[in-house]
Amino acid sequence: MRGLADRVALVTGGASGIGRATAARLVEEGSRVVIADLDGRAAASVARELGAEAGLACDVTDTAQVDAAVAHCSRELGGLDLVHANAGAPFTGAITEVDDETLDRVLDVNLKGAFKTCRAAAGALRARGGGAMALTSSLQGVMARPGFTPYTAAKHGVVGLARGLALELADDGVRVNALAPAPTETPMLPAFAGAMGGDVDEAYERFRAGIPLGRLAAPRDIADAVCWLLSEEAAMVTGHVLVVDGGITVG
Ligand code: NAD
Repeated sequence: MRGLADRVALVTGGASGIGRATAARLVEEGSRVVIADLDGRAAASVARELGAEAGLACDVTDTAQVDAAVAHCSRELGGLDLVHANAGAPFTGAITEVDDETLDRVLDVNLKGAFKTCRAAAGALRARGGGAMALTSSLQGVMARPGFTPYTAAKHGVVGLARGLALELADDGVRVNALAPAPTETPMLPAFAGAMGGDVDEAYERFRAGIPLGRLAAPRDIADAVCWLLSEEAAMVTGHVLVVDGGITVG
């Protein structure tokens, strides 16, 4: 894809699932990738495996750690061009089960973590004269389902964040878009399956039955869409929510 080779890219939550697949595709495209993940050991080992530049321990809820990950890109790799703000954590449960601590955790990781990542990266991308960010929202960012409410609220917030930043950073040559993935086969998916009732296999079947293309998304399906949004092939696309859902939202 045009515009990915030799660019410095930061992927949060890049040690697993969708983030790992994005990191892999970006490395294939010749980007210089820094993986930042709560699990620093996994980040380092995935970075080695993929041939990425670095794998850092980084909790996106902690401003200092996020700032340090961006500073690493500037210091060690000369700057930052591309960001996949992807780290997230699942939640399912009825609203009356959501105590303050749980609510804070779900919003901190999924919404405020994305905000902190974009805030830290904005200055670095401006300094390069432009760049692109892709934020992993969810189908729960564009529609809703009972039993996911704090997660749904956070992921709707991620869409708002992408739209607001797209306008705020347009003059700086920075494009900002969001992804709304369908259920994707990653280690996170079983956590959502609980809300579907029955055991995990039954829940997966129910997920599949609701997807017109007849299969769950693979991490690579989402990564390919992320990389397109980050590439120069999407040069006129900003403030967009790219639904990658096998047709779920069509009707
Ligand atoms: P995953 O569990 O495979 O990967 C998530 C990664 O994020 C893990 O490596 C984890 O260590 C990291 N992480 C968690 N909290 C973090 C924090 N505070 N700071 C930094 N890293 C942190 O899950 P995934 O399915 O690849 O999820 C990636 C993103 O996709 C999430 O934002 C998730 O909400 C979203 N999403 C997933 C699905 C799905 O069905 N799997 C669907 C729609 C959206």
